[in-house]
Amino acid sequence: SSNIRVGIVGYGNLGRGVQQAIQQNPDMELVAIFTRRDPGPLAEETGVLTERLSDVEQYIGRIDVMILCGGSATDLPDQTPQLVKLFNTVDSFDTHAKIPDFYEKVNAAAQEGGKVGVISTGWDPGLFSMNRLLMQAVLPEGQDYTFWGTGVSQGHSDAIRRVPGVKAGVQYTVPVQAVIERIRSGETPQLSTREKHRRDCFVVAQEGADQEAVRRTITDMPDYFADYDTTVTFITEQELAAEHSGMPHGGFVIRSAVTGNGSKQIAEFGLKLDSNPEFTASVLIAYARAAYRLSNEGAVGAKTVFDIPLGYLSPKAAEVLRRELL
Ligand code: NAP
Repeated sequence: SSNIRVGIVGYGNLGRGVQQAIQQNPDMELVAIFTRRDPGPLAEETGVLTERLSDVEQYIGRIDVMILCGGSATDLPDQTPQLVKLFNTVDSFDTHAKIPDFYEKVNAAAQEGGKVGVISTGWDPGLFSMNRLLMQAVLPEGQDYTFWGTGVSQGHSDAIRRVPGVKAGVQYTVPVQAVIERIRSGETPQLSTREKHRRDCFVVAQEGADQEAVRRTITDMPDYFADYDTTVTFITEQELAAEHSGMPHGGFVIRSAVTGNGSKQIAEFGLKLDSNPEFTASVLIAYARAAYRLSNEGAVGAKTVFDIPLGYLSPKAAEVLRRELL
């Protein structure tokens, strides 16, 4: 068939999301899922061919694009440079400060293997980055604002769970609505960290824990919480399971600019996501299609959302896009 043959590397939230998203894209075909864990028991969960990551080389020539779903902290920095020597890849590496270094490593490895490695796609980095670039290019005189949420931050939730006396917990990043309304109405305020986002924590305390001490340890935590207005709400395990097991997220990229003799021009791109991993997975699929096309045209090396023509994301032909969407 002429389907794009994809593999999934890593089966967590994002890996599951990619498996589901493939169902919505008839030009894609899932060949296998690769994991560092024992694939035997995991195959029951995936319901498809599940292989040891160490056996991945057997799939050279049988997979067009590998969608890498490992974590940014410790998985992708190793996995992307290794795998892009063998396959075209797409990943969602999201440690913003380390993207330039990651790009260099992936680019060198991709050049060596003659492959395309699309890095750091998703929504931020990804669609948000694209919108920041687009509106800066169009409106040179102005101010950018990015707000995240309301959504679960994995890193901050992990930080809460490490606090002594905490049994379980989840953290929501919440954009400060009043400030967004000021920006939408044309103001261009200089905002501190605290003025942009609030952090709401829902915590299940261990039996006998000093809740006031837990609260203070969380709100005083440098980098994670100290620079924000942070609320800590103690809940039961049942409430946590019933009301906080989803992974919503989203946010806004706003550019507030002027042209001519002070004409106000405000551009905004927003996302409201019930499931962060399912959405991110859907973006990865569209970029897998682009990676496949770029590679077929002879492109080689690391690519970001800035380097890839928009039309390459769509399953529709260029002439169809011109007729229907332009
Ligand atoms: P995750 O669920 O923690 O999965 C990461 C890896 O951990 C998996 O690939 C899997 O590898 C392993 N794993 C998963 N569940 C496991 C389990 N029960 N036991 C042992 N190992 C397990 O992370 P995620 O939520 O999928 O997110 C992955 C990355 O996506 C994040 O680190 C983030 O950087 C990125 N992301 C980016 C954006 C964006 O907009 N750019 C948005 C959202 C997320 P194996 O199968 O090999 O064990």
